[in-house]
Amino acid sequence: MAFPALPTADLHVHTLASGHAFSTINEIALEASRKGLKLIGMTDHGPGLPGGPHPYHFAALRFIPENMHGVRILKGIEANIVEEGQVDLEDRLLERLELVMAGFHEGCGFDGRGKEGNTRAVLALMEHSRVQVISHPGNPNFPLDYEAVAKKGAETGTALEINNSSFSISRKGSEPVCREIAVQCARFGSPVTVGSDAHIAQGVGEFGDALQALEAAGVKWGQVVNRTLKSTLEFLGLAE
Ligand SMILES: [Zn+2]
Ligand SMILES: [Zn+2]
Repeated sequence: MAFPALPTADLHVHTLASGHAFSTINEIALEASRKGLKLIGMTDHGPGLPGGPHPYHFAALRFIPENMHGVRILKGIEANIVEEGQVDLEDRLLERLELVMAGFHEGCGFDGRGKEGNTRAVLALMEHSRVQVISHPGNPNFPLDYEAVAKKGAETGTALEINNSSFSISRKGSEPVCREIAVQCARFGSPVTVGSDAHIAQGVGEFGDALQALEAAGVKWGQVVNRTLKSTLEFLGLAE
């Protein structure tokens, strides 16, 4: 069944600050505005990723205006999972952010723990009060118990991301896993996000493959957290 509209918020965007992305926040906001988006999450990588920003970057996000080119900018992070229930930025800084995503990335100290170790780490993070979204859980290099994770998402109100780049540019082999996650989310009614994971302005707001996977799995439009500005702010507990 087709969704009634396209999401107007993109919760997963990288700027130059990530160290391997190519646009400024100004360039991304301009492109988002041109595409009719109302909100973007500025989610640069956590400090633990090689080339990632220093923790000062996250404290300095206060310099960024709330709106740029008519687009609400959420100050966020895509933090790296480094231990069970732990990411690579201290809670004191996480608390200042409006959007905290956490995900597995190679070379950040959490490789080779296997499906059980990965699942334990994610389930523990879903209990963490500051973690709102698990980024690209469909990465086949970090297998999870998808049923357990989707169930926990529904219980804790933590969203699972269906990452659009996973279908083409990044994390080869993700597609069947993303589809399985979407099926589990449909089953449990878990909150989901779609994210472009854009590393250059042109990629912002591109969600076609991720949306198709959600529709095919029978996920309801109301489960898509970032469908509108309002639904996104409500989910994150932020004021308009
Ligand atoms: Zn990532
Ligand atoms: Zn990313």
